[in-house]
Amino acid sequence: MAGSTGQLRGVLHGNEPIGTDRGPAVVAVSACLLGLPCRYDGDEGGSDALRRRLEALARIGLDVRGVCPEQLGGLPTPRASASLHGGDGKAVLLGKAQVQRNQDGGDVTDAFVRGARQARAALGEHAPVLAVLKARSPSCGVRRAWQDGEVRDGDGVFAALLRKEGVPLHDDEGFLATAAAGALAGDDEATTEAG
Ligand code: SF4
Repeated sequence: MAGSTGQLRGVLHGNEPIGTDRGPAVVAVSACLLGLPCRYDGDEGGSDALRRRLEALARIGLDVRGVCPEQLGGLPTPRASASLHGGDGKAVLLGKAQVQRNQDGGDVTDAFVRGARQARAALGEHAPVLAVLKARSPSCGVRRAWQDGEVRDGDGVFAALLRKEGVPLHDDEGFLATAAAGALAGDDEATTEAG
């Protein structure tokens, strides 16, 4: 276990210890990646390979916590899919862009912003040490998200909120692709499963 902890310190914190006297460090995860059926279509969005890697983080004492910003914002499941319009998640948080339902153009900006804040609150007082979020989601997408009918550069709304706090962000695909993730899970599948 000591060896695994050393590897994780290298990945997440440089030479800083994991956790503090305040308790275990939190890893934020999109709840759908943990197998919860909270996607807009009522499905879940994870894979066994990803869950094995997240379980490995939990086994070494990290508090792996799933949140679904869209559900926490009060949206139902299943729900209409939605996209960012006029800017990315950061612009939405600044009031300079919107989130709209794809089906009818209905404005769901308030629910997305409220949900992002509720999800952040559910992660505790201190910023997570890492977030693993669902790729391309208008809430959870990291560096790429659905915007104006296509996937464009920019975070989703929740990812943008975490980025403001300096939380290291990975989408699920990038996390699986890192050699570090494979090392944490004790196997070498990471690079072969990413595609
Ligand atoms: S908002 Fe995030 S956690 Fe919820 S279903 Fe969408 S991608 Fe998953």
